[in-house]
Amino acid sequence: MNESTLRIGVLMPTVLGTYGDTGNAVVLRERARRRGIAAEIVMVDLDDPIPSDLDVYTLGGGEDTAQSLAAAKLRGDKGLRRGVEGGAPLLAICASLQVLGRWYRDAEGRRVAGLELLDVTTDPQGLRSIGELVTEPLVEGLTQKLTGFENHGGGTVLGPDAKPLGRVLIGTGNGVPEGTAAPQERHDGVVQGNVIATYMHGPVLARNPELADLLLRRATNTDLEPLEVPGVEALRRERLASAATPPRE
Ligand code: GLN
Repeated sequence: MNESTLRIGVLMPTVLGTYGDTGNAVVLRERARRRGIAAEIVMVDLDDPIPSDLDVYTLGGGEDTAQSLAAAKLRGDKGLRRGVEGGAPLLAICASLQVLGRWYRDAEGRRVAGLELLDVTTDPQGLRSIGELVTEPLVEGLTQKLTGFENHGGGTVLGPDAKPLGRVLIGTGNGVPEGTAAPQERHDGVVQGNVIATYMHGPVLARNPELADLLLRRATNTDLEPLEVPGVEALRRERLASAATPPRE
């Protein structure tokens, strides 16, 4: 941690920030501050160099054109790679999950090179997955169901170096590329090295305080005291109940 202030990066919020994903950084900052840890958000937009010395990075989702701008920026700027390889955790949502992989296929069918921080590839599913997503976490340190909102056309396949974040209970998650066989067990998200990626918007950290604290522990290299934030449990209960209720005809 730099000069004892936790610095939380939000990369390219103008192109990667659908469904309030920028809120993930706000949640990290607030959960740090409420424990007496000084924290600030560093906004890094398309024209700014990406600092390699931030303590934690967040990347949001984005629509197809925005996503290709972000992919080009990340290929041309080594700051994020240096930061993550230097030990900073990175949270990536939806389009960013795809961009951090080996490649993804865009809406026009072109294969776009990714950052190769994740051993994944993404092809169109042939349909959009839209709705609530609930998973059972598969990562040590997470015990509570993960809840979020998904909206994506891509289906992501994990290679051997990538592990899933959760097992899908409701919704699609990583999905299945068109023309390929569905796996027996469906998964959401990717965990590899210092990267945690998911298809969950929400913002996902507002709905899943355990995940926020996992990132904070890694960013601060400290154990954290338990923290109750009023309203979070009620939000979780309401969203999990809503996801379990079949949509009206
Ligand atoms: N454009 C990507 C897709 O549809 C990601 C969408 C998103 O980030 N919400 O798969």
